[in-house]
Amino acid sequence: MSKNIEKNIREILNATNFEGEEKKLVLSSNIQNIQIFGNDVIIDLNINNPTLQFKDKVKELYIRTISNNINLELNIEINLNVVELKKEKNIIRGDSIEGIKNIIAVASGKGGVGKSTISANLAVGLANLGYKVGVVDADIYGPSMHIMFDLHGVKPTSIKSNNKIRIKPLENYNVKVLSIASFVESNRAIVWRGPMASKALNQMLWDAEWGDLDYMIVDLPPGTGDIHLSLVQSIPVTGAIIVSTPQDIALADASKGINMFQMENIKVPIIGLVENMSYFVPKELPNNKYFIFGKDGVKNLADKMAITLLEQIPLVQSVREASDAGRPAILQVDTEISNSFISLCENFIKSIKERNINLAQTSKVDITHNKGCSS
Ligand code: ADP
Repeated sequence: MSKNIEKNIREILNATNFEGEEKKLVLSSNIQNIQIFGNDVIIDLNINNPTLQFKDKVKELYIRTISNNINLELNIEINLNVVELKKEKNIIRGDSIEGIKNIIAVASGKGGVGKSTISANLAVGLANLGYKVGVVDADIYGPSMHIMFDLHGVKPTSIKSNNKIRIKPLENYNVKVLSIASFVESNRAIVWRGPMASKALNQMLWDAEWGDLDYMIVDLPPGTGDIHLSLVQSIPVTGAIIVSTPQDIALADASKGINMFQMENIKVPIIGLVENMSYFVPKELPNNKYFIFGKDGVKNLADKMAITLLEQIPLVQSVREASDAGRPAILQVDTEISNSFISLCENFIKSIKERNINLAQTSKVDITHNKGCSS
């Protein structure tokens, strides 16, 4: 039902002109988003005329035309986003971000396999080793870095730099953090459409004052969608880490993720795979290992695809507790799990060094259509 209403609204928007004018007001490519919740309709449109008069005219015309053509009591809200259409294309920039040496995408095929947990522990571990680290939480389906870094409810502020207002990333455990959760309430993030999320990603990358970073870690949503393409189109990504559990269905999706980064027109090197939740050891039976999600699934995939296996991380209750408490488990002193995360960081550094010696810098991806990549 709401799909039909959305379709009708799109057709109405596409067909509506100012009286006496031939020119369409809104091109279909400028309809950013139509959300329908019961009788409430929220429409996001890009326009390129910033005057108040034009905005009022557009809103009045569309609300009237939609109401006249759809036989339902709808509460219509129209949000107009002023963009200079030519410049909008430039949001996709191919240059490196000044001061940032390595940009690492952390991806997974499936959700819930521990991608964000790995991103957070890797970031804190690298910072503990003396590297300058930033984290961008681009996981639109479940932003969680603000919780894992004990920054829940803390809003980024702005600072003035070179006469430009820029976003000041939050910071904890010597890691700078920006999350998509700061740009939208997390319970609304899921209804975002690709273009809005991509815009927020670009803001986090380009409009923030990151300073010098050895590693910027980008926690991507699960799957292979618009955000992944936006990232590789926006900046030269140094490499990707793929996280998976050893379970068959997770592996199948992880392979799709690997294939996406290795596609001819994307070509982002895979720094390594991480097998998470590899096994469980009960405290009372320390010599017993239980392979709940299967044994060595990611290890075997890494061997098969000739990709480095960065670590096999066990399933440990304190990992979950540490994440929820906002203090990543790598900060525990000399436990099996903290040592496992430290080993992950060391293997990561080895792998990235090899990558940087053996391969040229990744160039940004120049694709205008995201055919072939879907979530
Ligand atoms: P994703 O980012 O892939 O969706 P998360 O990192 O949010 O996954 O992890 C999903 C859940 O599993 C979280 O509750 C997290 O604390 C927990 N978790 C992740 N890795 C482990 C682990 N090795 N041991 C125990 N719990 C884990």
